[in-house]
Amino acid sequence: MLFLKRANYIISLNNFYVFKYNRISIKNLTSKEVSMESVDTVSTDVLIIGGGPSGLSAAIRLADKLKEKGVSKNIMLIEKGEEIGSHILSGAVIKTDVFKELLTPDEFNEVPFDCEVKIDKTVKLSENGETTLPFHPPYMNNMGNQIASLGKICKFLATCATNRGVEIYSGFAVDELLYENGKVVGAKTKDTGVDHEGKPQKNFQKGTSVKAAVTILAEGTRGSLAKQLISKFDLDATSNPQIYSLGVKESWRVPEGRIEPGTVYHTMGYPLVDGQEFGGGFIYGMENNRVGLGLVVGLDYEDPSFNIHAAMQAWKQHPKIRALLEGGSVIEAGAKTLPEGGWNSIPKLYDDNVMIVGDSAGFVAMPALKGIHLAATSGMCAADTAALALVKGDTSASTLARYKELVDASRIKKELYPVRNFRAVMQNGMILGGLKFGIQLLTRGFCLLTPDTHSDASETKKVKEFGGIPFKERFAGKLDFDKKLTFDKVTTVFQSRTMHDEHQPVHLVINNPEQFQSSNIEEYGLSEEAMCPAEVYELHIDKQGNKTLRLHAENCLHCKTCDIKSPNGGITWTTPYGEDGPEYREM
Ligand SMILES: Cc1cc2nc3c(=O)[nH]c(=O)nc-3n(C[C@H](O)[C@H](O)[C@H](O)COP(=O)(O)OP(=O)(O)OC[C@H]3O[C@@H](n4cnc5c(N)ncnc54)[C@H](O)[C@@H]3O)c2cc1C
Ligand code: SF4
Repeated sequence: MLFLKRANYIISLNNFYVFKYNRISIKNLTSKEVSMESVDTVSTDVLIIGGGPSGLSAAIRLADKLKEKGVSKNIMLIEKGEEIGSHILSGAVIKTDVFKELLTPDEFNEVPFDCEVKIDKTVKLSENGETTLPFHPPYMNNMGNQIASLGKICKFLATCATNRGVEIYSGFAVDELLYENGKVVGAKTKDTGVDHEGKPQKNFQKGTSVKAAVTILAEGTRGSLAKQLISKFDLDATSNPQIYSLGVKESWRVPEGRIEPGTVYHTMGYPLVDGQEFGGGFIYGMENNRVGLGLVVGLDYEDPSFNIHAAMQAWKQHPKIRALLEGGSVIEAGAKTLPEGGWNSIPKLYDDNVMIVGDSAGFVAMPALKGIHLAATSGMCAADTAALALVKGDTSASTLARYKELVDASRIKKELYPVRNFRAVMQNGMILGGLKFGIQLLTRGFCLLTPDTHSDASETKKVKEFGGIPFKERFAGKLDFDKKLTFDKVTTVFQSRTMHDEHQPVHLVINNPEQFQSSNIEEYGLSEEAMCPAEVYELHIDKQGNKTLRLHAENCLHCKTCDIKSPNGGITWTTPYGEDGPEYREM
């Protein structure tokens, strides 16, 4: 397998595809001569959408399985980030066993883990004080796990996949599933070269339709294609609504000696109020005086003015964290959501010709804040199923049902099922919720009086109905950011290296402009302005007091919070052009 990136083209020499790089269509060549002749449709056997741990593990495992069976098939993986890893953001403390199962021993030894966890503490914070817990809350023990940049690991996995003949194309956004006779038959990359109204311009390029026997959706949290599929086929008819949290993360270089590599702190308490917001902070010490740290907060909070980005800045002003960071500098920053509904929120995982893996399916063990090993496991289960289906020549739902059986037999069910009511009972706060969770640990997840969960969007209260202290009053004195320790959202966008081509339709779709004005703006006070970690939504008030929305879509970090939390389901996040968005290097 050989990739050549030449000018605007990626040329794959084994299957004679030519992808014109940089938003131009994919070309499928039939002769050995590499030509630039353009076609709108290409075919592959398996199409994987998303180059995170789930998609890459699916690709690697599938290539191995097909080789084992002596079958030659094409596997194509498409990623919207400029490079594999550009859009990846995680903690990350990783349970490594899954990579031993996925890779050869030599490859496993090469995985770019940063350091092993040697010190592991959970700390309860008050506004100025701290208490280290004498025990770990259940599932929070990290000794022996590895700290790493997930982006770097994904880059490495991509090399393992291409070495096995997988075709990987980054910088292409997939924005449409293709159907024939009501069944998925592949997906299409985004049209490019259109103006704000969607009218083709001189440089218009139609997206490429990729036809595939099996399509694997590995888009990560709140996958935009997975969302469409789940809705079209009602795949979540019998599951709880999926709920999410948002993590705002910064990567720092701190003065020598501040933190040992391999140190893990999880914080509870400040700046969050028990019973009002669920979540906490993480601080992971890495080699070369680097620290990954962030605040993760459930999106089921009620205050329409709650601002997780600013809460993270308040958290950094706590004496413990200030003492760690002062004198250091930010390497990069960003934000991303993660699904936390657990086992009860998992939709049906397959339909004819299609499977959903990783965060798009909701495979995160929330008590432990871990999804990477489950994402990779689900990719492997989907790969085993795809291999079976291709050999059998039957990719219908009845064959792909094997995927669910494999998930049920894997660590995914083993880890998620016993804690299936964890997030629901945590709505009662740490004390009552913790007690109920303790009972669940004894009963394999059963507990009376488990509250229902509701979509995060429906939990936000209107400004007049919210009875608590609004965010700005609560954190008065902590919201003047000094740009040394604390940063405003625009600086975070800069630190994430986010760029968007401005000549394209706005990728944040206001679903019902009239309702958005009368309800989201007038009644909720444009809660999107506070929830978005990137200053995309701005409430403009003119001299007459008229309120309107100003949208700065070019700042978007692709975290998906607005798609999840906007009241009335006000916003749909659609994928912008490939390559657009953050350019994370080691998140
Ligand atoms: C702040 C935070 C901290 C975390 N900490 C930990 C931790 O310490 N340990 C742990 O195990 N887990 C942790 N997790 C969870 C973990 O990161 C995820 O569970 C895991 O990354 C999921 O993998 P995935 O492959 O499903 O999705 P992702 O890693 O999100 O990858 C999805 C990929 O698909 C691409 N994509 C999406 N849509 C499209 C499209 N339409 N076209 C083309 N490409 C597309 C994206 O650009 C992305 O590269 C954390 C998550 C967050 C947000
Ligand atoms: S616009 Fe939406 S997806 Fe983009 S950064 Fe803001 S909240 Fe996240």
